[in-house]
Amino acid sequence: MENIAQRINTLRKTLREHNYNYYVLDAPTISDYEFDLLLKELESLEKRYPEFYDPNSPTLRVGGEVTKNFETVTHRNRMYSLDNSYSKEDLYEWEKRILKLLGTEAVEYTCELKFDGASINLTYKDDKLVQGVTRGDGYQGDNVTANVKTIKSIPLVLQKPFLEEFEIRGEIILPLAGFKQLNEQRIEDGFEPFSNPRNTASGSLKMQDSREVAKRPLDCLLYQVVGSNRFLTHYNTLLEAKKVGFKVPEDIKVCSSLQEVFAFIEYWDKARHQLDYETDGVVIKVNSLAQQEELGYTAKYPRWAIAYKFKAEQAISRLLSIDYQVGRTGAITPVANLQPVQLAGTIVKRASLHNADQIEKLDIRVNDTVFVEKGGEIIPKIVGVDLSQRLKDSKPVAYITHCPDCGTLLERKEGDAKHYCPNHYGCPTQIKGRIEHFISRKAMNIDGLGAETIALLFDAGLIHNYADLYELKKEAIIPLERMAEKSADNIIKGIEASKKIPFEKLLYALGIRYVGETVAKKLAFHFKDIDTLMSTDFEHLIAVDEIGESIARSLIDFFNDLLNIQLIDRLKKYGLQFKIDESKSTIQSDILGRKKIVISGVFTKFSRNELKQSIEDNGGKVSSSISKNTDFLIAGDKMGPAKRTKAESLGVPIISEEDYIGMIFKG
Ligand code: AMP
Ligand code: ZN
Repeated sequence: MENIAQRINTLRKTLREHNYNYYVLDAPTISDYEFDLLLKELESLEKRYPEFYDPNSPTLRVGGEVTKNFETVTHRNRMYSLDNSYSKEDLYEWEKRILKLLGTEAVEYTCELKFDGASINLTYKDDKLVQGVTRGDGYQGDNVTANVKTIKSIPLVLQKPFLEEFEIRGEIILPLAGFKQLNEQRIEDGFEPFSNPRNTASGSLKMQDSREVAKRPLDCLLYQVVGSNRFLTHYNTLLEAKKVGFKVPEDIKVCSSLQEVFAFIEYWDKARHQLDYETDGVVIKVNSLAQQEELGYTAKYPRWAIAYKFKAEQAISRLLSIDYQVGRTGAITPVANLQPVQLAGTIVKRASLHNADQIEKLDIRVNDTVFVEKGGEIIPKIVGVDLSQRLKDSKPVAYITHCPDCGTLLERKEGDAKHYCPNHYGCPTQIKGRIEHFISRKAMNIDGLGAETIALLFDAGLIHNYADLYELKKEAIIPLERMAEKSADNIIKGIEASKKIPFEKLLYALGIRYVGETVAKKLAFHFKDIDTLMSTDFEHLIAVDEIGESIARSLIDFFNDLLNIQLIDRLKKYGLQFKIDESKSTIQSDILGRKKIVISGVFTKFSRNELKQSIEDNGGKVSSSISKNTDFLIAGDKMGPAKRTKAESLGVPIISEEDYIGMIFKG
């Protein structure tokens, strides 16, 4: 028992260090794969020996706790907001006030970027995170500890002892790359994209299911330790905080005069556009903690700090015309075509207009002079119109009433911001969009086919839906533009090969609204085959973990449509995989990267031979006996105790069959 406790402790410590190296220092020393193995080992030990439960174990990063109502917590120290300044003059005024109050001639400052996210107050006791609370109204906030724990850059246990009990404050942000990826996935899955990173970050903190929060690539930058003067200056305090595991801003500068502060501001006013997160200004703080204390607070702000707000980068342009795009689900998105203009380092030609309400709200008209801003959105947005420049004969935009692609009368459902083209089966863009989705990499992954070829095949009348792909003949493809024998061959081969694509991917490929990759996997593994899924009613669907009402309704609608049933019947006839096949491990990959693996015992989802085959299919090597070179042992039922002891004494990680399946299905 002693041994196991030790191993668990070592693993937790090692994982914490690697986590810190990766997320805080940005200097990992092991591969993701090695990290995953250690984590898996810890998970399986914790599962087997629940007496060693630790609420701050690295395994709990994946979340799991569900909070229905967040508890309201009164802040021990009020969370003030910051006074704002917009010019050098404002800052001179501020300095004058400070110098007078302190009775000195000069003050040292620190400059930091002002991150645009959601503020958070973290409490640590005995070097462990005990609570995370949102700012709320400054006096009281929401206890979001379970969600905060899933953010990898927030240490659950410190690397070294710090202060006994303390609060540390920071900003939870959603980096732009993560935001973009999240939105691309949402669009793919048929959801509305999020409007900006800041709201998404604060919205994520309030989600009930911490497992969902764990999937959001949130980050946290800490900028203030509350209630300790031990390190004398703000700057030193942050340096010390970094040493014990906190992620503190990289770009922080100590300035001995306002001149240096201005230089920092000027530099970052431009350079911030290169950062992977949004900033809306610079925060200037008095560096000495004793002086901070002396200055104290007004009713609203600390006197010792002030924010300098960057002017939102804006450009003036002219609205040339409005295009209307039709999405795969039929949703219409208006897009503005602008006179090209330079904005935040790029040339902008198009801007999103979101929907009809937005156009009406801005009262934007063709030929108007407009103000364009760049936020975290993928494309810039129009924030206003210069009415003084409006042409006399301009008219309000008449929003389209019919689909620009197929001419069908558009629909708008109660409560929906968007118009939709209801001509699901006749609207070319929607048809092509669905076929493109079907063949895409994460779905059927058909080699040799892309959006262009789909358009070509569709225009030639060779395909009208994804089932038609399986009737394609080489002879029919060759005569098409830019096609040759070889490319036609590739297409046919790629389509043929896709018949082996596993059920969970096929289910995703069908393009059911709200059924993204993860949901498709979940459904496939739960219901095992399409017939069971199709015959399941609403009540039973929502009873499945993570399947909500909108997904359930969407599934019911999809399977109630006779045309979809016909498509599925055809696909079945062509031999596609409408059943889960766990044993064949269904995927092939090099995910196991030549690892030496020993298997032992009896397995439920695989025979021993199938398991060996699966390991080899995924790039691993099966060896018959355990040695110090063994990378891990997959333990089945009735594994001999001698093998376990040997593995444990050599420090070889032991994982379960489920762990293994999780590993190879991860990719
Ligand atoms: P405001 O919400 O405009 O009153 O600004 C105050 C907020 O700025 C604080 O509550 C913090 O969430 C946020 N903030 C972002 N970066 C910093 C920083 N480096 N130092 C202090 N506050 C910051
Ligand atoms: Zn249409």
